[in-house]
Amino acid sequence: MMKFEVTILGSSSATPVFNRNPSAQLLNCNEKYYLIDCGEGTQQQLTKYNLKAARIDHIFISHLHGDHYFGLIGLLSSLHLNGRIKPMQIFAPTPLLEILEIQFKYSDTNLRYPIEFFPIEADESKQIFENQDLIVKTVVLNHRIPTTGFVFQQKPRQRKLIKEKTEDIPMAYYAALKKGKDIEQSNGEILRSEDFTTPAEPPRSYAYCSDTMYDERYFETIKESDTLYHEATFMHELLDRANETHHTTAKQAGEIAKINGVKKLLIGHFSSRYKTLQMLLEETQSVFENTELAVEGRTFQL
Ligand SMILES: [Zn+2]
Ligand SMILES: [Zn+2]
Repeated sequence: MMKFEVTILGSSSATPVFNRNPSAQLLNCNEKYYLIDCGEGTQQQLTKYNLKAARIDHIFISHLHGDHYFGLIGLLSSLHLNGRIKPMQIFAPTPLLEILEIQFKYSDTNLRYPIEFFPIEADESKQIFENQDLIVKTVVLNHRIPTTGFVFQQKPRQRKLIKEKTEDIPMAYYAALKKGKDIEQSNGEILRSEDFTTPAEPPRSYAYCSDTMYDERYFETIKESDTLYHEATFMHELLDRANETHHTTAKQAGEIAKINGVKKLLIGHFSSRYKTLQMLLEETQSVFENTELAVEGRTFQL
């Protein structure tokens, strides 16, 4: 089975407290690493959980509040010092490039590796990335500054050959059979794909939504995701505060999961006012049972 899992590196909003770090997650899809947000201390978190930063080739930044990118300059600098030469692709709001360039300029740093920067506009949902494993689309969120979430959608896989049955047929047929095509041989005999292959695993999807207030306009883009990560900064008793700061309550996160028919919900981005998180989890679970806390060091199969 193709690996598709996420490890949480940070679960805190705004400031690092109670052993919680600001937002960052590492997605592993088919043994390729994708970093989602990069709060302060992300490189130390990667080390702590034995995840090699050098294997990250793509970084996605949701918005320019510091708790989502203050770790980036440190991470990029360390990769440089450690001799990286392969390119790094960064998908982020346009001004981030200027911020990085200023920091490199005044530290007189000439990176050994190229940064390929892809600016994101938070105006409408768009596909921003595609490779052989994944498609990534933006989710336009409602926050105090332009913010996008991301949907990581696996691409459909090919059918799998059944080894014992395909040993005696020409290898030249394999590609077509894996695509689900039947083959007519010269003697008129037909080899049916379904006799020689098993169906592919259904493609899975992971939606990442941080930071945002409850807003139905982005629901369409996260609908029926297999797993949804959603911020849940406050308990619902602080709804006014959530609206004021453009954040979501734990109860609302559960409602968003329920309305959009996702299979599993992860919540994070917890306010520094909460020393323990059980009550946030319980509030969300009162609306959507299959919820887990996206806290540091946990890895979820997607
Ligand atoms: Zn934040
Ligand atoms: Zn924010």
